[in-house]
Amino acid sequence: MNIILMGPPGAGKGTQAEFIKKTYPIPHISTGDMFRAAVKQQTPMGLEAKKYMDSGKLVPDEVTIGVVKERLAEPDCANGFLLDGFPRTVQQAVALDEILSGMNGKIDLVLNIDVPDDILFDRMAGRVSCEQCKAVYNTKFKAPKTEGICDQCGGSLIQRADDQPETVKSRLEVYHAQTAPLLDYYSHKGNLQNVDGNRDVNVVFADVQKLMEAL
Ligand code: ADP
Ligand code: ADP
Ligand code: ZN
Repeated sequence: MNIILMGPPGAGKGTQAEFIKKTYPIPHISTGDMFRAAVKQQTPMGLEAKKYMDSGKLVPDEVTIGVVKERLAEPDCANGFLLDGFPRTVQQAVALDEILSGMNGKIDLVLNIDVPDDILFDRMAGRVSCEQCKAVYNTKFKAPKTEGICDQCGGSLIQRADDQPETVKSRLEVYHAQTAPLLDYYSHKGNLQNVDGNRDVNVVFADVQKLMEAL
């Protein structure tokens, strides 16, 4: 099953992806995680991506599409995948359709996690994530058992450089201008499902699971 997780920054895409992975063992492809790994390794692509990420803008489509195309060609994607944070522009969605038609595949479900902007500011202000396993926590809504330490693997919890209020503001503007139009694109295709993300994580996941089981 091929699934897209959509939603504004901070909506809970990564959090729901963690739940989904436990129930459905398909690879979780987060373009944000891939870019952050490239930044950390200081690869040429990472250095290029960092310029955009630091200012809350989107990495150019040609770079992003190339990264995803390579990843989807890996053998573990043959039995399904969970895309998180891609596509984010109509051009990326069109490119994804082309990549998939070349693989004889299609998107089965687009899950749009909906959360109002004021809540998103609060969530990103408190977000910390594990340097090692990428598990996501929140100092206010989902605190780890020991401050600064991952419950799952003992790794250090760090705050993302782009989670400061100024950058969050620009990421939300970018979302509304460039990514929200994609909802129409998928709604016309008939595989868009909206989920109210402004509820307890477990309640949100119960809805997600229902939609996945209906496939
Ligand atoms: P969030 O989950 O909070 O929305 P991500 O981890 O998905 O954030 O993305 C972090 C940053 O990485 C984005 O602000 C953007 O600069 C870059 N990025 C991630 N995915 C894409 C994409 N599909 N297209 C362009 N840029 C992307
Ligand atoms: P995204 O991947 O969409 O940017 P995350 O999954 O990283 O979002 O979640 C953003 C922040 O909000 C994290 O700190 C996470 O712990 C918290 N969070 C996620 N889902 C919920 C929820 N349903 N209620 C409260 N906080 C949440
Ligand atoms: Zn961890």
